[in-house]
Amino acid sequence: MRLDKLLANMGFGSRKEVRQLLKKGAIQVNSVPVKDPALHVDPEADEVTILGERVIYREFIYLMLHKPQGVISATEDNRDRTVIDLLDDEYRHFEPFPVGRLDKDTEGLLLITNDGKLAHELLSPKKEVPKTYFAHIDGVVTDEDIERFAEGVTLDDGYFTKPGKLRILKSADISEIELTITEGKFHQVKRMFEAVGKRVIYLKRLTMGTLKLDDGLKLGEYRELTADELALLQ
Ligand code: URA
Repeated sequence: MRLDKLLANMGFGSRKEVRQLLKKGAIQVNSVPVKDPALHVDPEADEVTILGERVIYREFIYLMLHKPQGVISATEDNRDRTVIDLLDDEYRHFEPFPVGRLDKDTEGLLLITNDGKLAHELLSPKKEVPKTYFAHIDGVVTDEDIERFAEGVTLDDGYFTKPGKLRILKSADISEIELTITEGKFHQVKRMFEAVGKRVIYLKRLTMGTLKLDDGLKLGEYRELTADELALLQ
């Protein structure tokens, strides 16, 4: 990879800015000062430093966000803030995107990455990756709903869902439930409850595959996945 490209990819400015750094003699490759932006470097093998600080090259980032309500699961939007707007500059130059969508009013676990292959694996309908949601439901959720979800329900567009695993945490006028589904149709949880005559009034995603929302993350906070979390997910 060209040296200027590597440094720009790692967030050290535009290629033009990187060239200025090179001109100033701030960059060394394998302890030798370098001024040639076109120099070919191997990000794995060569040691690149800026003002003596080692540049650790990486291609992919993996972030777990505790998505708050009011932001859109997209990379850009004309009206609303997006989940990408919540990230620091040090991550944004990797051009990350959210893996799947949570509604604007849904909270919880959202994986953000620039690894298209992993995103594809997690979103592929064939993989049937389980996702667990916590919800408040307007109405009394019953054992009959558990049975109906276990069989699958017919959504408003006629689609018959795969089985969902419903767990009632509190059955009351406002019920509390957990639902695990292996699909990701548009508004799926809300529409599954509509199918049994009930309305979701609060929705939060807790898990996606092996990944669990970190309790320590406040709404709007994010962190990188640990090596273990990433290994389990891949
Ligand atoms: N199901 C929904 O209805 N909304 C979400 O945001 C996620 C799943």
